[in-house]
Amino acid sequence: AKASGGARWALYDADRDRRELARQALSAAIPAALQRGEFYLDYQPLTSLRDGRLLGVEALVRWRHPELGVLRPDSFISLAEETGLIVPLGAWVLAEACREAESWSAAGGPAPYVSVNLAVRQVHRPGLVQEVRGLLNSTGLPPERLQLEITESTMMSTAEEPVRALRVLADLGVRIAIDDFGTGYCNLAYLRDLPVTELKVAGQFVAGLRAPAVEPASCADERILASLVSLAHALDLTVTAEGVETAGQAERLRAIDCDAGQGWHFGRPAPAERILERIG
Ligand code: C2E
Ligand code: CA
Ligand code: CA
Repeated sequence: AKASGGARWALYDADRDRRELARQALSAAIPAALQRGEFYLDYQPLTSLRDGRLLGVEALVRWRHPELGVLRPDSFISLAEETGLIVPLGAWVLAEACREAESWSAAGGPAPYVSVNLAVRQVHRPGLVQEVRGLLNSTGLPPERLQLEITESTMMSTAEEPVRALRVLADLGVRIAIDDFGTGYCNLAYLRDLPVTELKVAGQFVAGLRAPAVEPASCADERILASLVSLAHALDLTVTAEGVETAGQAERLRAIDCDAGQGWHFGRPAPAERILERIG
């Protein structure tokens, strides 16, 4: 038993080594890929549940890899976070999003804001405020049209620097959203201490929503969502539900007074031109 167990382990380790090597190679390729312009942004609509208006769009990074094809962020973001390469990559995403968003306008309403994901490292870096301020200046994007999405894990450390930086940015008028709300450490103290403007509730709660015809009594997911919405509204925050895939889910979210929705039901991530066709 020992011997065969050992053989299995050897096999497993070889596999793991190969995967680890592939990951490292991918990571090492990020700086050159940035220089060659292999990254691009898709945008996904954030739609008002009250009147269907396009409130904003989330920027989602993709890598057009010359050999592997288009890579989704899940295959390289965590890697980039580990190696620190998320800092130059994230800086590129932020700059590109601000550049593109500056030209967006809407007929007869405020132009949509652009919502950018920030990795933990980006928020904990001392230069963040300067970077954002510099970008708003150089692109001319009004601060209200930029939203930064941070996760609960960003705020888990007790470091004061990120809190201070986010406060300065919020004072400039930049919007701050908590991404994947409800999946991390739900330490509500940061809702008191941080200048948050929006909660983005993770799609896993939305997935459980049922049309009333199917399931008359509201399910646990719906009650959780409804409580989150009242909590948020009591704190003057808006709520965007993620992962809205069906009209039935959108209907239930409207019924519990959720503010906005994001998901395939409202539109898949797509290049800016395609999203903006909708606002003319
Ligand atoms: P996220 O911030 O939660 O972004 C939403 C993800 O859900 C996107 O995946 C989007 O394509 C997907 N999605 C949208 N609507 C639906 C739906 O109706 N159903 C389902 N099942 N999924 C939906 P994507 O583009 O693969 O991005 C994955 C994650 O990668 C993002 O999750 C975000 O955490 C991260 N990410 C993306 N771009 C960046 C970036 O520029 N910087 C950083 N730090 N992270 C990024
Ligand atoms: Ca996000
Ligand atoms: Ca999210």
